[in-house]
Amino acid sequence: MKFKAFILLPSFQTNTYLLWEEKSKEAMLIDPAAESDAVSDFITNNDLTLRYIINTHGHGDHIGGNVFFKKRFPDAKLAIHKDDKVMLQKSDLNLSLYYEEETISPEPNQLLKDGDNITLGEKKIKVIHTPGHTKGGIALLVEDLLFSGDTLFLEDIGRTDLPGGSYTQLIESINDRLMLLPENTKVLPGHGDGSTIGHEKQYNPYVGK
Ligand SMILES: [Zn+2]
Ligand SMILES: [Zn+2]
Repeated sequence: MKFKAFILLPSFQTNTYLLWEEKSKEAMLIDPAAESDAVSDFITNNDLTLRYIINTHGHGDHIGGNVFFKKRFPDAKLAIHKDDKVMLQKSDLNLSLYYEEETISPEPNQLLKDGDNITLGEKKIKVIHTPGHTKGGIALLVEDLLFSGDTLFLEDIGRTDLPGGSYTQLIESINDRLMLLPENTKVLPGHGDGSTIGHEKQYNPYVGK
């Protein structure tokens, strides 16, 4: 699998990831933070077929580009965990009410749950439900890549003081789910630099608590 990270919303520094399978050239866009001709052109110029637009959770800085990318790539399926679906079209819940511009996403085409597999070419991407930052937060795992959304950051964890957040649940999601992955698993978070599960086991002050 190949991926490329983009920052589309400098004020939030949200990582938008484009993930694709080399042989089939089928691609998935993870957390489109905002509209972007650069990402759209990258997809087109590399002959990629965008199959999915996935939101790791329903916050405005992760869904702000849904309208744009759904319009550019109408065949791509928009998917989010079922417990965050309600956030897509309610700006008080996705918090974009408090931003410069409100975000009202299109309806999702697919609702995800723990254990689902999403296919790109011959590769399966596994959905891991990681509630705590929001109720329907997910991480996506393929090969040695873990897209961790706002659950796990480099030596830090996501906020739990926003609506739907729970510190207990977040710690459980991290320790009981993500920390069971091999130590060489690369962590690609929703904000900031990447890490590995091994590094987080050693240096993240919240892990093991
Ligand atoms: Zn968030
Ligand atoms: Zn975020």
